[in-house]
Amino acid sequence: MLGPAHACPLPIVFRAAAPVTRRPLALRLVAMAALACAFTAQTAQAQSILRDAETESLLNDMTAPLITAAGLRPSDVKVVLVNDDSINAFVAGGQIVYVHSGTLQAAKTANEVQGVIAHELGHITGGHVSLSGRGFQEATGISILSMVLGLAAMAAGAGEAGAGVLAAGQQAAIGKYLAFSRQQEASTDAAGAKYLNAAGISGKGYVNFFKTMQQLEYRYGITRKVEFMLDHPVSSERVAAISETLESSPAWNKPLNQDWEERFKRVQAKLDGYLLPPAQALQKYPETMQTSYAHYARAYAYHRGGYPQKAEAEADALVASKPTDPYFLEIKGQILLEAGKPQEALGPLRAATDGSRNNPLIATTFGHALIATEDKANYDEAKRVLRTAVARDDQNPFAWYQLGTVYERTGDPARAALATAERASMTGDHRTAAVSARYALAGIPKNTPDWIRAQDIAMTSGNSLDNDKKKRK
Ligand SMILES: [Zn+2]
Repeated sequence: MLGPAHACPLPIVFRAAAPVTRRPLALRLVAMAALACAFTAQTAQAQSILRDAETESLLNDMTAPLITAAGLRPSDVKVVLVNDDSINAFVAGGQIVYVHSGTLQAAKTANEVQGVIAHELGHITGGHVSLSGRGFQEATGISILSMVLGLAAMAAGAGEAGAGVLAAGQQAAIGKYLAFSRQQEASTDAAGAKYLNAAGISGKGYVNFFKTMQQLEYRYGITRKVEFMLDHPVSSERVAAISETLESSPAWNKPLNQDWEERFKRVQAKLDGYLLPPAQALQKYPETMQTSYAHYARAYAYHRGGYPQKAEAEADALVASKPTDPYFLEIKGQILLEAGKPQEALGPLRAATDGSRNNPLIATTFGHALIATEDKANYDEAKRVLRTAVARDDQNPFAWYQLGTVYERTGDPARAALATAERASMTGDHRTAAVSARYALAGIPKNTPDWIRAQDIAMTSGNSLDNDKKKRK
């Protein structure tokens, strides 16, 4: 974690349909410093994880060189986006870096975010997280998977599936952040700098981000006393310590990667449109602004604010500017789907699915649209699309929900039950998983892959249930 937010979880702002006033980031930092630190132990907050194809693709691409430089494998490390508008990032076991959406929104460049992530990778390689993935799960009583909540799935009115995931997520207590020692922070800063240099990525963003944190500290008078309370070095010391290493590298003056920076601006606009209260997003991106970023932000803001026609017009402007851009086609399809026009959504969503090489999140929205047409002729394609999606993404309960629906509608209750079992085991609902898996076993031909899968779930969920019972005694 970076800056004063380090050991101090902020209150989670869980956005309901009704617009809430979003306090400026700086203010929230103060609130955090003043209040949250004192009550760290008591703050068990609900958090949700945002899934978005475009954001994930960008984060994967821009962190892969850093992960490699850290001696880890990009396929093993996940960068997970937490729906939280405070500036923070953390690790909590396993090879997962959690980044608050607020960090992406506040960063000036993708390069700054790379600095943040390089630092967090240093915590992973430094072995600073004493809790194993499992330990973390037990500490929080919830698996990360159960908090997964897609940008798409949620907006699409995921209904039962979305609500279920949300309820599970609200029990989560990622609020228990791990506090690291000064020593660990200093060595992590050094590791982060090393990874940036080795990856040939300029450390300017890293230093800039620290400076922003420093200004916030200065402005709100986070004194040495508070710093001591935080058990955290002040940013000025940290900046001085890493600046030398970074500035001496040939990477320091390397120009920023324009592809990442451009994609980052899009992601920022999208997050603003999706996460800010619509009125505030429209203030930040007024109609007079005709950049693609502004269209993007407004498409989401109008969509969430309940102006489907205006949202569609913004999406049309995006698609007109780049007719084959899968993410522009995705938002266009999503808007149409949620405006109750699933038939019209099929074209853009099919193109988005193809154009993203079957990105599982986009494919799930496409599958949802195919089912929503209530046209039997579309069900086989829906099945195919959704089966591919669940095979490629093991953190998407909503895809299983959709797949179960299409099995149900095509008269295959056993496989519908298997889909329910998959979804339930993913969200930690062992009872439903066990019951559904047993039902599936009775109806699926023996020794087929689906039957074997049902048996696996029946067994593991049964075991988890027994363990839960033992613990309660
Ligand atoms: Zn840290």
